[in-house]
Amino acid sequence: EELREAKERAELSDRAKSDFLANMSHELRTPLNAIIGFSQMLVDQKAGPLNPDQKEFLSDILKSAEHLLEVINDVLDLAKVATGKLELKAQSFSLREAIAETCGIVKPMADERNVTISVDASIHNDLVTLDPLRFKQVLYNLLSNAIKYNHANGNVKVGVTVDGQKQIQLQVKDTGIGIKEEDLPRIFDDFVQLNIGTTKVQQGTGLGLALTKKILEQQNGSITVASEIGHGSTFTIVLPLASEVHEHA
Ligand code: ADP
Repeated sequence: EELREAKERAELSDRAKSDFLANMSHELRTPLNAIIGFSQMLVDQKAGPLNPDQKEFLSDILKSAEHLLEVINDVLDLAKVATGKLELKAQSFSLREAIAETCGIVKPMADERNVTISVDASIHNDLVTLDPLRFKQVLYNLLSNAIKYNHANGNVKVGVTVDGQKQIQLQVKDTGIGIKEEDLPRIFDDFVQLNIGTTKVQQGTGLGLALTKKILEQQNGSITVASEIGHGSTFTIVLPLASEVHEHA
């Protein structure tokens, strides 16, 4: 009887947490999208000309709001994984196209640091059945790290192969600052950020890799890392070509 009551209480609090997150997501994202939309319009001088200071300050507002939106989205995704509510919608898509699209999204960031990205995806059949948005989110996280923690004029190599076990192996290799051996086991934990204050780049939230790992594991995939300090890091993900879709109630 006691166990049954405890279970009911736990389920109730779980539901309350999910409801809270769903509401919070809406309450935070709606005004934030207005801030992003309207500051973008002002920056584009749609409401009249700006002097250089005004333009600079508005660009700062826009950049910070976009960063905050990323943080909120990551926190909410992590909470969804924790409550088993991260829905995956598998559909057939081209790996090469998904990779090209994601490389396009990070290109401005790479150009800014003079980092070049090359892709080697010489596979015969590149159609997979996975959640395309989550696949691109994982790749985006790895690519943006490979750019952020790279040296200026460095490079990033993306390689994909499909093995006999019908598994995708995707590698993101950078020529960046690398990760100390003793730090490797903890970089996939929530909120872990290394080298705070030592890199000139804008720091993230320490959630990207934690979320990446959980999204992959939910699809029976995995992620590993090899790194040499000062020389670069290689992140390797393994994913089945097609994932079972686990729809949660
Ligand atoms: P962040 O938002 O700080 O980038 P992540 O979870 O994506 O958070 O990464 C956690 C930490 O791991 C980062 O703060 C960084 O110190 C380290 N890291 C991640 N990717 C790389 C990389 N490619 N090269 C060097 N360090 C990395």
